[in-house]
Amino acid sequence: VSDSGAAVVDESVETIDGRHIEVAANVGQPAELEPAAQRGADGVGLYRTEFLFLDRETPPSEDEQYEAIREALDTFPDGRVVVRTLDIGGDKRIPYLDLPEEENPFLGERGIRRSLDPDSDLFATQLRALLRAAADGAGDLAIMFPLVDTVEELDAALEALDTAAADVECHDADAVDIEVGVMIETPSAAFMADELAARVDFLSIGTNDLTQYVMAADRENERVGDLHDPTHPGVLRSIHQTVTAAHAEDAWVGMCGEMAGDPDLTELLVGLGLDELSMSAVTVPEVKTAVSETEYSTASERGDRARLAATRSKVHTTLDT
Ligand code: PEP
Ligand code: MG
Repeated sequence: VSDSGAAVVDESVETIDGRHIEVAANVGQPAELEPAAQRGADGVGLYRTEFLFLDRETPPSEDEQYEAIREALDTFPDGRVVVRTLDIGGDKRIPYLDLPEEENPFLGERGIRRSLDPDSDLFATQLRALLRAAADGAGDLAIMFPLVDTVEELDAALEALDTAAADVECHDADAVDIEVGVMIETPSAAFMADELAARVDFLSIGTNDLTQYVMAADRENERVGDLHDPTHPGVLRSIHQTVTAAHAEDAWVGMCGEMAGDPDLTELLVGLGLDELSMSAVTVPEVKTAVSETEYSTASERGDRARLAATRSKVHTTLDT
């Protein structure tokens, strides 16, 4: 039994009518890996690697990063571990990197934009560590790039990955057999989801940022909290567009924003076609139970009605009936 009272479900789960949904954990530091496994997570759907860079004076070495990722892969020997490359800027600051002050940090050099800075080797070092860990670790590594806006950024990130693979010699990216994915966190990424999905194995929707940018409502400002709500139909339509585009390109699509961990929204998300939901480990048992009580065919009709509703309150009426 988990903290929330729901029974831990160790097996993978499917809907009543047999649609498999991967239920994974969001992990922000190594101490959270084992509890996530104990709560029945199928794997890690978002490993936030910022922890490697915090509470210290200099960036971690390639070997330190290798060890940390190996630990994650060895904790989930039969699962997938999705590691997000460094996502700094915006709400995530690292003092010793001495990044320039920006007037609008959430619209500034965040996520992949910072990783692609030609004057920094942080990205190359991290990619080498990840590829080495993938080759040696037990579970399946997937690499995911944050805050991608354009195809050009993705192409540059994929090129950096190829270079890192060549650098670690014996491996090329294909030989290590890793999946590569993109976070969908901006309106541009949602609109361009077809082009992005054509180049990778999966998309993962980051609703914390996607909601912030679709609704133009700061994720940290309570005064606009009603607008920063992923059940607004504008956000649901961006999710639907992303899922449809991913499936048309044979890519799987997950969600790793807070929305994915709300068991009251599980039926909606299954209905919108998500293949994977990743959340704080605490809610994994409840969401697994909710998936097993959902009928996909009904959820899908309800998902259509919800996203086509004109207002958030009509979305909620749809979900309650
Ligand atoms: C998101 O934006 O939804 C997300 C999962 O990333 P983070 O919360 O770390 O920005
Ligand atoms: Mg984000």
